[in-house]
Amino acid sequence: MGKPTGFKEFDRETEPYRDPAVRLVDFEELYTEHDQAHLTTQGARCMDCGVPFCQSGNGCPIHNLIPEWNDLVYKGRWHDALDRLHKTNNFPEFTGRVCPAPCEGACVLGITNPPVTIKNIENAIIDRGYEEGWVVPNPPSVRTDKKIAVIGSGPCGLAAAAQLNKAGHNVTVYERADRIGGLLMYGIPNMKLDKDVVERRIQLMRDEGIEFIVNADVGKNVDVKTLIDNNDAVLLATGATMARDLPIPNRDAKGVHLAMEFLTANTKSLLDSNLEDGNYISAKDKDVIVIGGGDTGTDCIGTSLRHGCKSLVNFELLPKPPAERAPDNPWPLWPRIYRVDYGHAEAADRFGEDPRVYSIMSKEFLKDEDGNLTGIVTVNVDEKIQEIPGTEKTWKADLILLSMGFLQPEHYINEALGMETDDRGNFKATKDDFKTTVPKVYAAADCRRGQDLVVRAINEGREAAREIDRDLMGSTQLP
Ligand SMILES: Cc1cc2nc3c(=O)[nH]c(=O)nc-3n(C[C@H](O)[C@H](O)[C@H](O)COP(=O)(O)OP(=O)(O)OC[C@H]3O[C@@H](n4cnc5c(N)ncnc54)[C@H](O)[C@@H]3O)c2cc1C
Ligand code: SF4
Repeated sequence: MGKPTGFKEFDRETEPYRDPAVRLVDFEELYTEHDQAHLTTQGARCMDCGVPFCQSGNGCPIHNLIPEWNDLVYKGRWHDALDRLHKTNNFPEFTGRVCPAPCEGACVLGITNPPVTIKNIENAIIDRGYEEGWVVPNPPSVRTDKKIAVIGSGPCGLAAAAQLNKAGHNVTVYERADRIGGLLMYGIPNMKLDKDVVERRIQLMRDEGIEFIVNADVGKNVDVKTLIDNNDAVLLATGATMARDLPIPNRDAKGVHLAMEFLTANTKSLLDSNLEDGNYISAKDKDVIVIGGGDTGTDCIGTSLRHGCKSLVNFELLPKPPAERAPDNPWPLWPRIYRVDYGHAEAADRFGEDPRVYSIMSKEFLKDEDGNLTGIVTVNVDEKIQEIPGTEKTWKADLILLSMGFLQPEHYINEALGMETDDRGNFKATKDDFKTTVPKVYAAADCRRGQDLVVRAINEGREAAREIDRDLMGSTQLP
């Protein structure tokens, strides 16, 4: 433990984001430079408590060794901190940027005081590691004769590939998009996770011997049965890509889009041409309504603002969360409280108020005779989502983005294989062994359990890799 009295001496201070007025004119990352003196102080707040809830149970899903690296950072031993971090996390530069940090919700200091800024410290450790040249390819010294195909290159597929490669297997990752990274590339926008950060890690993985094939849509332009025949194991890491739609009248109005149509096209156009090719849905000068919250809704807000939308409203079906934990939501559970994410702060900066409207249900899109969206009719609802009579309202809109979550994976791979799905339409496989109902085929993360978090996808990728290695070799050294 670095400083026994640190938690009493120092207040929690998170690293600031760039000023909203400044960051709204670009798609650069939100974050400011790490201040190492500041982080040392924050690391000193860790109490090194006997039972570190932050790294287990409701805390970090990959069991990052948080008190150990807090202490090492406090002592200025950044290289050692990086080694400890890489023991449990293949991609701290992703989680350090995008993880909602369940570890902080479970931090023991959080029972009485604001928790340690764990996520900031994690991000600073890995960023320093890259700056200092400490993060280098580490290919296996011995190769086995086993071949493994990973389908899907999101955080799950990448983590599994990294682990299986570490065990010496020959790994090929197949991705149907034109770039590797899954939602790290074409979901989470640049301001939250710069794509050079994703590319940098993928280049390291290439240098370690992993093969990546893009534009390879397994089940369509790559035959899945041949892939199974030619490999010792196949891992499905295809994500939960079927979005929940809003089937109310006039859904076909021109100007109503799924959030992912909007976000994916924006990032691709940005990367291909800095938005000069025009191959994206522009929010410029439009009255925009985002239906649904969560990370995806926030990303739609942040992107619309950067396009220069005229107005912005965000509908939430549920009531506004409480400012403090409710009695049925005690520590160390994830605090279900009111939060201001980056997009909300930016909208407030641009338009003077938080864009969120709570307890509101969409009833009907409105369109003109040419089929163009003109607005939407809503009604207020009570806590049981029952409509409140007399609260109908018409809102003007020329762009509505649907961000109401994701249902399940697409089904063409399992249909081609006769593979079973579970009650929710996910690929059927247990967390014990990740085996599907088809021999040699495994499934992990969002396609197995529904859309979740990057850190949980990394966790399942690592665990599935361990089980595959065990099945192929009879035993495993993978954690
Ligand atoms: C807009 C958005 C923002 C988010 N923000 C956050 C955040 O800030 N923090 C957080 O923790 N989580 C966030 N999430 C959730 C997180 O991104 C996912 O839970 C995580 O990426 C799931 O990882 P995965 O590897 O299972 O799947 P994915 O990342 O979805 O990757 C699956 C990949 O498989 C590919 N694929 C699918 N079918 C095939 C096929 N037949 N052949 C070849 N390739 C195929 C897809 O193209 C995709 O690249 C966000 C999600 C969205 C949609
Ligand atoms: S990966 Fe997420 S939960 Fe784990 S230590 Fe980092 S921020 Fe916390």
